[in-house]
Amino acid sequence: MRKRFGFRDWWPGDTKDEIIIGAMLTQQASWSNVEKAISNLKSSAGVDLRKISAMDIRKLEMLVRPSGFYRQKARRLKGIASYIFGNYPSLGRMFSKETGELRQELLSLDGIGPETADSILLYAAGKPSFVIDAYTKRIMNRVYGIGLDMDYDNLKTLITDNIKDDIELYSDFHAQFVELGKRYCRTRPICKDCPASGLCRYKRMNAK
Ligand code: SF4
Repeated sequence: MRKRFGFRDWWPGDTKDEIIIGAMLTQQASWSNVEKAISNLKSSAGVDLRKISAMDIRKLEMLVRPSGFYRQKARRLKGIASYIFGNYPSLGRMFSKETGELRQELLSLDGIGPETADSILLYAAGKPSFVIDAYTKRIMNRVYGIGLDMDYDNLKTLITDNIKDDIELYSDFHAQFVELGKRYCRTRPICKDCPASGLCRYKRMNAK
């Protein structure tokens, strides 16, 4: 995948605050709509969790509206921002905690599930916590026959037990899965020329 797509190591966001806000807003939303909400924030108070913690909730709702479920997302975003600055002097202080402890703390907050927690840990906090998303599940199912119902943490362990424990690799690997899912392994897969086709169980089983 890396040969085809190049090194990606990405999360679209210029700052830690923007990565966290993007990870929250992208739940059940296309990235293009998240970008509209982030653009609204940029042209208003800024993509700044400390400001969001003090922002009027109605104003925040209007700003994040393009990302959908805007009332729920505004409430959760403000809740998380308020939690961070109510408990820590800075985001950096919160992120200085041990990975497992920080993950449990993130998971205890309203609106943060495993995928969002791992996205925040890996891309904002720079911790080695692999991200599983819908593309990863679909590709692992088609390529290796892993059940789509496999539990999030088990699938994460299965992958991380087989790759080097390295933040850069985790970041890139997740981004490669996303790229493969967008370009080839779509709902209706485009197997011809897919860079994973040589490994793929689905491709072998469906070869004409
Ligand atoms: S070969 Fe087809 S099914 Fe397999 S990963 Fe590529 S697109 Fe998906």
